[in-house]
Amino acid sequence: MVKGSILIMSNVRVRFAPSPTGFFHIGSARTALFNWLYARHTNGTFILRIEDTDKERNSDEFLQVIYNSLRWLGLDWDEGPQVGGDYGPYLQSQRNDIYQKYLKILADKGRTYEKDGAIWFKLEGERYTEYDEFAKKDIEKVRAKPQLIHDMIRGDVERAEDRDFVIYRANGEPVFHFVNVVDDIAMKITHVIRGEDHLSNTSKHCELFRAFGVEPPVFAHIPLILKQEGSGKMSKRDRGALIEEYQKDHYLPAAVRNYLCMLGWSPKDDREIMDIGEIIELFDFPGIQQKNARFDEKKMAFFNSEYVKALPLETLAWLARPILTEAGSITENTDEDYFQEVLMVAKPKISSLKDLPALLCYFFNENYATVEDAKNRVFKKGDPIARLTEALPALERLNDWTEDSIHAVYDAVASEKGQKNTDYFPVTRLAVSGLAGGPDLMPTLRVLGKEKVIARIRNFLEKNK
Ligand code: GLU
Repeated sequence: MVKGSILIMSNVRVRFAPSPTGFFHIGSARTALFNWLYARHTNGTFILRIEDTDKERNSDEFLQVIYNSLRWLGLDWDEGPQVGGDYGPYLQSQRNDIYQKYLKILADKGRTYEKDGAIWFKLEGERYTEYDEFAKKDIEKVRAKPQLIHDMIRGDVERAEDRDFVIYRANGEPVFHFVNVVDDIAMKITHVIRGEDHLSNTSKHCELFRAFGVEPPVFAHIPLILKQEGSGKMSKRDRGALIEEYQKDHYLPAAVRNYLCMLGWSPKDDREIMDIGEIIELFDFPGIQQKNARFDEKKMAFFNSEYVKALPLETLAWLARPILTEAGSITENTDEDYFQEVLMVAKPKISSLKDLPALLCYFFNENYATVEDAKNRVFKKGDPIARLTEALPALERLNDWTEDSIHAVYDAVASEKGQKNTDYFPVTRLAVSGLAGGPDLMPTLRVLGKEKVIARIRNFLEKNK
């Protein structure tokens, strides 16, 4: 906790322990986030450990995606690859000596044996045989003492293992359960926060901890994330599941992070869009829900639009420039003052940075397309060409090009012709932008400037004679 200006570190040590066997998805990101939040809340240490013992399924590409996605989300780790720490190396593939040392500890305690080339962990308890319907043979079982699992979300549960299990494969590779527990001991992990899918492994893990003579850490198994429709668990293949997609679509990372916080946690007062500093202050296990969370793409987009609207203009301009440049809407020569003026006018209508080129390209180019749908909508009602033809000379005569005076021109023409001013607006917008919607019209006309507006209207009338 921060007390006065002195930062006191707590002894809380949590870890995010991904296996680089696939792209980084929402579920992993949420697990990483909850560990990070808990570490920041307690002034503890957030460790990144890469569980890459499965050589066949790991890839360096996936590893880079993990680093990249965590950094994009702002989940900085205190110990781990790229940053180091006192308990490294932080890649399991580099920790073989440590595993051998720990294997020897178990062997010396008589808790291992070899069978079929593999090394097994031996449970303690009375042994008996039972016919297994599935395997169609007698198998040896053990009446082992139930393991007490202290879980901050599910409460205390007791589960017993009834069969010995492999900790080193015949090919010499250590098994997940073994390295996972060894590292949690060696790295002095105090709280294991992970997905509920690991709950079924936890009694094995507790067996191993206690075999080493170490009390298991506190567990917090967080509920699953269900996909948008149906009852299934969100998987990497589901739409919207990969963090990289949001990155590519120019989502704001703070918005994605805020949304992920609410997938299974809540401050219990209905608030959802919250500053990360406040979330860190409030985040704790009692706020984590027991029921599964459901992923909602629309809600994520809503969070993003709220964050976009809250951006200071300069930040928005700084983020928008590369996006519009890449789309060919602007060049590096585009005037910054004009650029910021456009963004200021458009800001209330921007819900995602990805849409910027479609929304704004006509502010910077004469060769904008007229959207067919927009045209059909405008031409469905009244006589838009007649209206625009009436407005043109009055606009041409206007010298004081302000929002109020442009509006006054429309009012005057409309009343002279016995029409409503709103009969003139959609067709004007279509003529100057090719669209049926967008930022407010008067500010749009003002920012475009008289010269462009008149030229575009003339051009439009010419084409639609
Ligand atoms: N490598 C495991 C996974 O990817 C980590 C399990 C744990 O956090 O203990 O799910």
